[in-house]
Amino acid sequence: MPKRAEKCAVCGCVEKRVTGPEAPGFRATAGDVAFEQPPYHIYECTQCGLLYRDVILSADEFSQYYAAAKYEGWETAGYYPTETAVLSVLRALPPRSRILDFGCSSGRLLAGLLPEYDCHGFEINDEAAAVAAMKGLRMFSLAEIEAGEAGKFAAIVLVDVFEHLSDPVETLRTLTRLLAPDGVLLLVTGNGDAPACRRDPAQFWYFRIIEHVCMLTRRSAEFIAAESGLKLASWQTLSHYKLTLRERLVQRTQDFAYWQFRGRTLLARTVLPFIPLLRRARLAAVAPAYTCSPDHVLAIFRSSLGECGDERAPTRINE
Ligand SMILES: [Zn+2]
Repeated sequence: MPKRAEKCAVCGCVEKRVTGPEAPGFRATAGDVAFEQPPYHIYECTQCGLLYRDVILSADEFSQYYAAAKYEGWETAGYYPTETAVLSVLRALPPRSRILDFGCSSGRLLAGLLPEYDCHGFEINDEAAAVAAMKGLRMFSLAEIEAGEAGKFAAIVLVDVFEHLSDPVETLRTLTRLLAPDGVLLLVTGNGDAPACRRDPAQFWYFRIIEHVCMLTRRSAEFIAAESGLKLASWQTLSHYKLTLRERLVQRTQDFAYWQFRGRTLLARTVLPFIPLLRRARLAAVAPAYTCSPDHVLAIFRSSLGECGDERAPTRINE
C-alpha cells in the first residue's frame, strides 16, 4: 500500500505548500512486477524548499521494486553529461586518492578511473554490485560504511541516488564521517529549481519516475550542508541527457504546444488546432517529457573540518 509523506525528508518540517493541481497516477514495472503510483501532488517544504511527492510507495514496495529492477535499465553507452562533470572533478584529485561511489550500480563511473585512483563502491542491487567488483572496484557493505570501517575518502560521489533516499540527511551524515579533512562530497540529482520543473513540478518528467520521491533545491542543499557539517562549495546546473538537435527541437515544440493548450492562450484557441503535429498536445493528460533543460545539478560539498581559510576545492556557483 502506498503511504503518505507527512513531512519533509530533509528538515522534518510538516509545513508545506502544494505546488499545483493533482497529477494523474501511473504504473511502473520492475522485472515482471507492476507497481502503481496513485494520483499525487508535489509539496514544497516551507522551511528548506525541498520538493517531494505526497504519496509514495511503502518501504516494503520499494524494497520489492529495487530487488526486481534490472540495473541494465540505467546503463548507457558512454557517459551522461552529469557523469562527465563528476569525472572532471575527480580527475583533478591527486593520483591514488581514495574515492567512494555510493550507489555505484555496475561501477560504470569509477571503472574509467582505475588504476590511477583507489576506487570503491557500495551498491544495493547484488547483481550490479557483482559486476562492479568484477571491474575492479573494492565493494563495501552498508554495515561497513555505517560502522566507519571503510576508511576515509578524498571524494564520495552520489550520482542519481539522493532522489531515492527515504532519509537523505542521515545517509549524508554517515558519509560525511568518512570524508578526509579536505574531502569533497559530490551529489548529482534532479534540480528542483529548474524553471521547466517550476511550471508544475508534479507534471515534470522527473516526478513521473516512481522511485523519484524528491528533488533538491539550492535552499535544501544549504540546509543539508549546515546539518551535515559541510559547506556547499559549488552548485552547477546541467542536463542529465545528451540530446541531438532534432530531439531538442521536437521536445521544445511539443512542450510549447502543451503549455499553450493548458494555458488556453489565444494561439491555442485559434491557430494550433489546425497544425496536425501540434494539435495532439490538446489531448495530452500530462506534460510531454522535457529533458533538454538544466534539469539536474552537481552540488559539491566540502568537509568544513578541512577549512583553514584556503580555497583549494572548486568554488564555482552558477544558476
Ligand atoms: Zn524541508
